[in-house]
Amino acid sequence: LTGIYQPLNMLGFNYREIRQAFIDMEQMVSLAALKPDIVDAPDAQDLPPSEVHGADVAFEGVTFQHDARSTGLREVSFHAPPGTTTAIVGPSGAGKTTAVRLALRLIDPQEGRVTIDGMDLRQVKQASLRRSVALVPQDVALFNDTVYANIGFARPDATPEEVRKAAEDAELGAFIDGLPNGMSTMVGERGLKLSGGERQRVGIARALLANPRVLILDEATSALDGRTEEAIQATLRKVRAGRTTLVVAHRLSTIVDADQIVVLRRGRVVERGTHAELLEKAGEYAALWRRQTREH
Ligand code: ATP
Repeated sequence: LTGIYQPLNMLGFNYREIRQAFIDMEQMVSLAALKPDIVDAPDAQDLPPSEVHGADVAFEGVTFQHDARSTGLREVSFHAPPGTTTAIVGPSGAGKTTAVRLALRLIDPQEGRVTIDGMDLRQVKQASLRRSVALVPQDVALFNDTVYANIGFARPDATPEEVRKAAEDAELGAFIDGLPNGMSTMVGERGLKLSGGERQRVGIARALLANPRVLILDEATSALDGRTEEAIQATLRKVRAGRTTLVVAHRLSTIVDADQIVVLRRGRVVERGTHAELLEKAGEYAALWRRQTREH
């Protein structure tokens, strides 16, 4: 009878691998991506240690097409200096998610290159890239485990103090202190249910635990209620400090203070500038802005 259990053992998964697979899946699902089969180049290197806050991120003539008919991205260029926030906006299908997947190197461009601190991502060891670039996805998936495990799995070697700090920086401190067993409280289907705002904070805490130089925020399409949304935006403003941030924004109200806004349409950059500059231009962005402010 013991033989029955053999196949399970043969799968050889341990808990950490399952959790890692879970994170990967979360990223895949939230980006509607296929599993990347990207491997390190033989001469791949670590990103050099940074002297400055954040990293320099650049898209240089990046073209990516999913297939012959898709628009994907066409010759997209922009430069995000260290410590700045770049918002990527545009109508549905403009290529925003494609840009995020390229920045995370879930896919490689067919033409052009994506660089961090001047290094082509294809030349960077993926382990190094994962430590430097973190994503806060649209929908944060939780699993049946403690609050601690739900945050801590983002960096298995983190100390309890580091997990606690990430939770506090994501402003979950008071929430956790109010739980029956604090960080040891179970969450997920068989435990505590978290609100939309709390889930987003767990996503922020996970990303912060990795202490990335580049933070990618894939803003949820549907807004939380007004007050929660405002509180989350305030937290995000704080965590953006000292990092280079790329935000895929659906609600333009969340990115009026971005250092630059890159407007995509059908895979191309059609406008670029600050909120004020783009309103002044009275073009694509101004039209999107008018449409959204009218809706509210
Ligand atoms: P949304 O705001 O709706 O999420 P988006 O700006 O993120 O849209 P992308 O998802 O990057 O847009 O898609 C850009 C283009 O690439 C679209 O024309 C889309 O149809 C196409 N596309 C995206 N994923 C695939 C895929 N897996 N296979 C084929 N075409 C795809």
